[in-house]
Amino acid sequence: MKRFLVLTLVLVIFLSSCRVVESDLSADDTQKETESEVIEETTGSETITETDSESVTDMESESEEDTTVIEGDYEIEKIELDKYEVSIKAGETDMPMVTMYPDDASNKGEIWESSDESVATVNHYGKITGVKAGECIVTVTSEDNPSVKAEVKVTVSGEASLTYVNGILIANKTYSLPESYSPGIDRTAEAALNKMISAAKDDGIHLFIKSGFRSYGTQKTLYNNYVARDGVDAADRYSARPGHSEHQTGLAFDLNSLDQSFGETKEGKWLAEHCHEYGFIIRYPKDKEEVTGYMYEPWHVRYLGEDVAKDVYESGKCLEEYLGITSEYEN
Ligand SMILES: [Zn+2]
Repeated sequence: MKRFLVLTLVLVIFLSSCRVVESDLSADDTQKETESEVIEETTGSETITETDSESVTDMESESEEDTTVIEGDYEIEKIELDKYEVSIKAGETDMPMVTMYPDDASNKGEIWESSDESVATVNHYGKITGVKAGECIVTVTSEDNPSVKAEVKVTVSGEASLTYVNGILIANKTYSLPESYSPGIDRTAEAALNKMISAAKDDGIHLFIKSGFRSYGTQKTLYNNYVARDGVDAADRYSARPGHSEHQTGLAFDLNSLDQSFGETKEGKWLAEHCHEYGFIIRYPKDKEEVTGYMYEPWHVRYLGEDVAKDVYESGKCLEEYLGITSEYEN
């Protein structure tokens, strides 16, 4: 009996000590231990377990950032400009000042864009540069919030820096074109030239283009090379200084041969006799060097349109005489 009591007491103490151990283990610890055991058993790799916990942390921090943006504390809400219209000449620049709201926005980055870069370009800072006469829209948006924007209406006037006399664009020794003026071949002039070449072919005359549009930069290289070879005085008789070449208008073409003997060929004679019918004139006729400023160039035709070309042809005058203008360099 005494022995039974002792055994019972020992059993009671054992059971109660077991309960104490169980209650010391929190539910979380039990779960973690179970989880880590499962992961280790499944993957057999601690690295993957760590990566999993990192990606969980990343997702948590990302969702925190999203929440911040949605609250709108730092997001751009409005863009204001000090001007919404800009009028410049080709080659000139202007720069509207930007204010982004709210003031404490974290990213005030600007994105600038021109609706027509052949009329005006715009750089990263909003500096607008006129290219040629026309209109376009320059838009600034927020890097932070592309749905917010402001627009500038840009008007570029080419006329002020180009010289038109009776509606005719002039490029000679007196009147120059701006460096930025780069229209390429005029499509109307090109179509008229093709019509003339086709008509000549029907008459058994082979005409072809040697040279059409030339940019300011190309002309600069050409002229400088001629000056290096022949000197300024000689070069000025047959080559235009940059900005003074009629080829920069996109309305002039050199045909077949850049040799004065071309005027005596059947092609040269056909051209002199018929080109006005297609809207062209021989721009630098024989014996007019004192007026045009250039030697006789039987190969160089200038597009004026059929009515004006016919009128100039029938007058027997060169273009300077016809319009009553000069062609002389200032120095
Ligand atoms: Zn020419």
